[in-house]
Amino acid sequence: MKKESLLGADSADLERKFAQIGLTKLDAKRVLPWIHVKCVSSFDLMTDMPHKIRLLLPEYFSLERPLCRNLQKSSDGTLKALLEFPDGHQIETVFIPDEKRNTVCLSTQVGCAMGCKFCNTGRQSFVRNLSCAEIMAQVFFWKDMLPMLKELSHPHLSNLVFMGMGEPLLNAENLFQALELLLDTKKHNFSRNKITVSTSGIATNDLQQMAKFGIKLAISLHTANDAKRSELMPINGKYNIDALLNAAQEYLKRSNTEHVTFEYLLLAGINDSDADARQLAKLLSGIRCKVNLIIFNSWSGSTFSGSSRMRADAFLSLLLAKGIRTVIRKSRGSDISAACGQLKGAGEFIAPRIS
Ligand code: SF4
Repeated sequence: MKKESLLGADSADLERKFAQIGLTKLDAKRVLPWIHVKCVSSFDLMTDMPHKIRLLLPEYFSLERPLCRNLQKSSDGTLKALLEFPDGHQIETVFIPDEKRNTVCLSTQVGCAMGCKFCNTGRQSFVRNLSCAEIMAQVFFWKDMLPMLKELSHPHLSNLVFMGMGEPLLNAENLFQALELLLDTKKHNFSRNKITVSTSGIATNDLQQMAKFGIKLAISLHTANDAKRSELMPINGKYNIDALLNAAQEYLKRSNTEHVTFEYLLLAGINDSDADARQLAKLLSGIRCKVNLIIFNSWSGSTFSGSSRMRADAFLSLLLAKGIRTVIRKSRGSDISAACGQLKGAGEFIAPRIS
């Protein structure tokens, strides 16, 4: 019998599942913190639960983490894990340690249907959505790893970004269930301003539904020009820049967040001229926003190259001069293909190592 993972279970789920095997609501209430606060990986460790329940639970349910097929460490300390789910499908997730925070980048789909031209994941076809339990499993995986990462300046996860493989808003139901668990003060207790969901430009009702969580929104914009954007990101044919900016303004209103972040990959000779910067400044003027400039990280087979640092600085100066809050985001983990747009979700087997 296939055991059901409890990694994505909330109170109502657990009560329903427990009732089916003759356990009570009180049993569910006592087990829930073991899953989402103490984050144990075995029912045996639930020491205040009666022995017979600890024996019964593993007959039906599992707290198993996905198999780590490969763990790589970048020269800057960034870690990338290739995780495999019981059906054999694989995704990548990234841990980015910093002096002030530890950030985890999460995937929401196996493969991706969006086909952004600059993205390595976009070359893979879409396979399937991750379940809530599979999204949460990435958080559990990194929480389990923390005690082994001795060099960290603080031993906890502080920030989560949904910027890994897949388009989060095309898996909105499972994403929202995971957000409930992550934000719940009696469960994972992440702060709402420490969670960011990034979209390639899905300006649907799901985006506005997400506003109820009050989390940060990042939009992959990459150019202020509709024709260029449609070339780079086919989704622009459905939701053009105007539609996207209207949706961003509406999200700001509904979510009461301070600003929306626009991600802008600097691609040499494509979107990095002074004219591109001026067009972007004009487009974003009056919107509560921040622009993250990211110098494109090349990957094998990519036809694009990243802008020079000098070009990036000139682009930055132009935006700042026009009053647009802008930074050049430090790229992390590019030597292990863990940086933005480099995740692929398939690799040769290398035994996990953290040294
Ligand atoms: S950038 Fe994001 S949305 Fe676009 S193809 Fe890559 S993973 Fe998909």
